[in-house]
Amino acid sequence: MSGDSLKSSAAAGGDQAYWNEALETMVWPEVERWQAQQITAMLEPLRQRSQLYRQLHATLPAGIKLGSLADLAALPFTMKDDIRGAQERNSDAQPFGENQAAPLTDIVQAITSSGTTGAPLYYALTQRDVDFFTDAIANTWFTAGLRKHDVVAHLVGLPMVAGGLPYADGFRRIGATLCWLGGFPTDRILREMRRLRATALLATTSFGLYLSEQWDAVGRETGLPSKLSKVLLGGEPGLNQPEIRERITKGLQTSHLREVMGLGDVISAMWGECEAHAGMHFNAQKYVAVELIDPDSGALLPWREGATGEIVYTAFARDATPLIRYRSRDHALVTGFGKCACGRTSPRIRCIGRTDDMLIYKGMNVFPTSIRDLISKHFAGQVEPMLRIWKERKDQVRFDDPIPVDVEASPSLDKSAYASLVQKIEHEVRNQLQVRIAVTVLDSGSLPRSVYKNSLVAVRGAG
Ligand SMILES: [Zn+2]
Repeated sequence: MSGDSLKSSAAAGGDQAYWNEALETMVWPEVERWQAQQITAMLEPLRQRSQLYRQLHATLPAGIKLGSLADLAALPFTMKDDIRGAQERNSDAQPFGENQAAPLTDIVQAITSSGTTGAPLYYALTQRDVDFFTDAIANTWFTAGLRKHDVVAHLVGLPMVAGGLPYADGFRRIGATLCWLGGFPTDRILREMRRLRATALLATTSFGLYLSEQWDAVGRETGLPSKLSKVLLGGEPGLNQPEIRERITKGLQTSHLREVMGLGDVISAMWGECEAHAGMHFNAQKYVAVELIDPDSGALLPWREGATGEIVYTAFARDATPLIRYRSRDHALVTGFGKCACGRTSPRIRCIGRTDDMLIYKGMNVFPTSIRDLISKHFAGQVEPMLRIWKERKDQVRFDDPIPVDVEASPSLDKSAYASLVQKIEHEVRNQLQVRIAVTVLDSGSLPRSVYKNSLVAVRGAG
């Protein structure tokens, strides 16, 4: 496969169906073989460029050759703590620490991963890194249906986060019109989206949900018709719930709702849903290899519909802050593998939760989102698709008593039915997830609709 055959076709514009037809339609094992060659070629130089990998890969034999991606198993994982430790050992010449693998004179941008736990981590980009980021992100937007005639409302507020400037670059690479409205007050965002004839928006899922509740009223207030036809949401797993999808598509009056996902540490948009609406395709295959592993044993899992595991990334084309076998802590369900109806061959996933969010009830692991998804699916019509799980302290992970959960009743449910609903929900959750919860049913509209993040887990006494 020559370098030329991998060139992005969409840069020329026109009506092509893919951003990078050669890579997106190639059978997946062939993509992986090509990636294994790229990784083989970068491993030795990497030990020269990065102090972190000189340490992590110290015991690897020289001249190691990967025949396939399965051979990656010979390499150790990179954990978030490895990156954190490397960044703490920084200097004037290496402000990004011991994984700064390019001289400061070549670094043109710093980004921060938007993780909510711990001190912020920073990633450095050379111009080549920026180009690769932009291309992979544009590929993701293209898969999610954005085109050059779109006017995109970019609703992420902070330029420095990985979903800030890099996303903006991706919109412009597509040729779309970037309207960076993130950071303005919400009423202004809504008004200006009408005024600028935005045809597309990108936001967090909960902000998308919030906008969908206001969109109609803003139309009446401004007198301007909605031109919005494409909605890209992500950053939180709410789109696994059909009820949430329905609310958003109804409120925003379009059926084009696509989920997108990335990881700030690697590339901030790598996964995007195609028109088949059956999970998110991987779109960064030109720059990043992806593995599915068992989070407990670390063993590689085959891509297979129905499989679940943790996603592991290898950014094999990264100059400044490379990552090899980086544990994402994102747990995914594989919703499809093999050729999709859209013609793409990359695996399709839904994100089911993050290790950081996991709760443990008497030794059983459970994601807050699993509790929410189960309840809103089984009790649709009786409960609203939002609920709140309570912790005693921010860092509480383990529960010895049933996990407290507030559930909001549907407006149509009579108060006399609350008690039996509590029993049914507690029973169903114990049955399906092997954890006990203690349910409180609240009247419809009781739970806060926060503007930027619908926090699923709340801490007692923390407001
Ligand atoms: Zn597809």
